[in-house]
Amino acid sequence: MTGRLDGKVAIVTGAARGQGEAEARLFVAEGARVVLGDVLVDEVRAVAASLGDEHAMAVGLDVTSAPDWAAAVEQADRWGGVDVLVNNAAIHWTRAFEDETADDLRRMLDVNLVGAFIGMQAVFGAMCRAGGGSIVNVSSVAGLTGLARHAAYGSSKWALRGLTRTAAVEWGVHGIRVNSVHPGPIHTPMLPGSGDAVADEGRFASLPLGRAGEPIEVARLVCHLASDESSFQTGGEYVIDGGGQAGPRRSG
Ligand code: NAD
Repeated sequence: MTGRLDGKVAIVTGAARGQGEAEARLFVAEGARVVLGDVLVDEVRAVAASLGDEHAMAVGLDVTSAPDWAAAVEQADRWGGVDVLVNNAAIHWTRAFEDETADDLRRMLDVNLVGAFIGMQAVFGAMCRAGGGSIVNVSSVAGLTGLARHAAYGSSKWALRGLTRTAAVEWGVHGIRVNSVHPGPIHTPMLPGSGDAVADEGRFASLPLGRAGEPIEVARLVCHLASDESSFQTGGEYVIDGGGQAGPRRSG
């Protein structure tokens, strides 16, 4: 243990797999106690069990449910409150703009935006009582630019960025820092692959670093924002995309 999160209690959503699992594992390694929430209840229990009862607790958490959030905060309170919230859970699909439906757009916004909003309100009281806290909202590069076939997902991630900045300016007075993280392609179940490893990696050849990222690489950035190392950072938008937002990789 290196202790960058010693004594802190964190809630991480979408912690059954992918980036959320990597964040929960790194947080525990850095000394935090973590409430891991997900709709994949068996999977999130298995992750928490592998981290040990003293450090990790799994809760069935559908981020769109206010009662589920209340139960997650109650669990964290048993460890003394909530210092860190990572709104990582999300759903994703790609679809041509003209084929997207209003109902599906609402469903996407409900999980990716309203879910984070309910979570932020759910931890607000505990963070105020503690004299502050850190909220990390996982957006995407799809929340920084227009990505084809991402009308619903992209809208949800742009909106999450706006929610982040708004909370940062309102809650700084309470010592609550709120930042967003904007990953490019990361190797998780959310990133569709063809099963052909060489062809899949070829898709990322135009990125300056020429590859997709790994969940632990995002987890390290999220850990920094969760920790007191980032004590002067709020309202920030942190890109982690292998350089994609900077431009295409040089060709020769
Ligand atoms: P993932 O699909 O592996 O993990 C998402 C997790 O969220 C899953 O465990 C899923 O069960 C959970 N989840 C979905 N709906 C939920 C709900 N209603 N309540 C609670 N949990 C729910 O994907 P990931 O790549 O680990 O995604 C993590 C975050 O990173 C997401 O916010 C995603 O939008 C973002 N992101 C991912 C990529 C990528 O390429 N993988 C790129 C940019 C941003």
